[in-house]
Amino acid sequence: MTAVLSSFRSHFLKRPWILLCSVVFFCGLLIPRLSFLARKNLLNPTTVESDEFRSQPVSEELFPILASSDDPGRFLGLYWLETRFQADPHALRTCLTSLNHSDEPTAFSVKKYEPHWENLPDWNEYLKLCRAIWNDLRYFPVATSSDCPDYTVTFENSWQYERTYGGKRRHEGIDIMASVNQRGIYPIVSMTDGTIQNLGWLELGGYRIGILAPGGAYFYYAHLDSYAPLTEGQQVHAGDLLGYMGDTGYSKTEGTTGRFPVHLHLGIYLTVNGREVSVNSYPALRLTEQRKVNAVYE
Ligand SMILES: [Zn+2]
Repeated sequence: MTAVLSSFRSHFLKRPWILLCSVVFFCGLLIPRLSFLARKNLLNPTTVESDEFRSQPVSEELFPILASSDDPGRFLGLYWLETRFQADPHALRTCLTSLNHSDEPTAFSVKKYEPHWENLPDWNEYLKLCRAIWNDLRYFPVATSSDCPDYTVTFENSWQYERTYGGKRRHEGIDIMASVNQRGIYPIVSMTDGTIQNLGWLELGGYRIGILAPGGAYFYYAHLDSYAPLTEGQQVHAGDLLGYMGDTGYSKTEGTTGRFPVHLHLGIYLTVNGREVSVNSYPALRLTEQRKVNAVYE
C-alpha cells in the first residue's frame, strides 16, 4: 500500500501539469455534474406537494422580471429547482447575480437552466403546474378607486399561520385586510379568466366563489359580503367584478357576519394526482399588486 501511494505521489510530482489538469477538470466539469445529480431528486411526482413548493418562495429581486415575463411559471419552476427552493445559498447567489448581469434576464436564465431538467420524466407535469399558478394571473383581486382613495388594503405573508376556528389548522391562503372596516364597499375582481365552479355558503369561507383558471389552478375568494350577478358554470374574464368584500363565515348558519374584520381571503389550489393541494398565494398577490382594476362608484 505504501509503495502504491509513493509511486502515485512521485508520478504527480514529476508531472505537475497532470495534477493541474485534473484539478481543472474536476472543478470545471465534475463539480457542476455532481451538484446537478444531487439536486435531480428534487423533481419527482410529489414535488408540488412538498412544503417547499407549496410555500412558493420568491426573492424580492425577481418580481420585476416576473412582471415582464411571458412565461413566469417556467422561469420560477427552473429557479426553484436550481436554488433548491431558495435553500441553497450558493445557487441562489449565482442565480440572482446572473439575472443582474444579463441584458435579457429571462431568456438568459431559462436558456441556461432548462437543459438541466427538460429531459427528466417529471418535468412536463411540474412545468404545467407552475404555469397553472403563474401564467393566468392578470389583476390584483381588490379594485381601487380614484373616487375613494381612502379605501386601501394591506396584506402580509400569513401562509400556514395557525388558525383555531373548527379545530387547530394552518392558514391555507392570504388575507387582504380593508383599511375601512366596512362590509360591501371594496369591489372584488377575478385575478384570471376562468369558469365559476363554486358559488355559495361555506362554513369556513362564508359567501365564497371558486374560479377554475384556464391552466387548471383553482382561485378561491372567501368571506364576500355580496355577489355580482353570476352563476356556477359561467365564464368570467380577468378583472370582472365578482362581488364585494365582507366578513361572512365561521358559522354553519348562512349569512353570519362579524366574526372577524372585513377582509378577502384568497387561496390558490392545484389538483395533483386527484388530490387538492393549496399553495401560498402571497407571491401571486405581490406580483399583481401593481395591476389593480380601477373601480367607478355610481
Ligand atoms: Zn384567511
